[in-house]
Amino acid sequence: MKYCSTCGHPVEHRVPSGDNRHRYVCPSCETIHYQNPRIVAGTVPVWEGRILLCRRAIEPRYGYWTLPAGFMENSETTDEAAARETREEALAEVTIDELYTIIHVPHIDQVHMFYRATLTDGRYGAGEESLETELFEPHDIPWDEISFPTVKRTLEHFVEDMRSNRFPVRVSDIRHRMGDKR
Ligand code: ZN
Repeated sequence: MKYCSTCGHPVEHRVPSGDNRHRYVCPSCETIHYQNPRIVAGTVPVWEGRILLCRRAIEPRYGYWTLPAGFMENSETTDEAAARETREEALAEVTIDELYTIIHVPHIDQVHMFYRATLTDGRYGAGEESLETELFEPHDIPWDEISFPTVKRTLEHFVEDMRSNRFPVRVSDIRHRMGDKR
């Protein structure tokens, strides 16, 4: 951040009095611009035992397969965000079942949350951010072409849990690795 979004004055990066972290502070209007982690919400959309994946039509990871997910918008809930992303990327209406994974990704200041979801009528398609969408049997998932570590981990848990048909909520972290942007 270079300029104050409130008044346009150049901001300073310093520890405000009474705080213990560096913040962007406006010396003109004294606004402190707090920056906090962002939430990515998505679904594991299922239809008749198969999992719906989207092949990305955008960078990063163009051409890789992903679960529908994206940044939460203001004034929506996490499950609404997950359902909206599924509608936008996979043109699929879903019933949100239960929260499934919460994965902290602290080196990029994100928290990823995936819900188990069921397609309401089995229909899906490719939204603007997708090249194609497809239902995969668990043993056909293209593991070497999965877009992001949080998606891969969620799918690994899900395929494992499909065997017992028990899906406990799983909370974990993904820490930075070399060459791993997300
Ligand atoms: Zn200002």
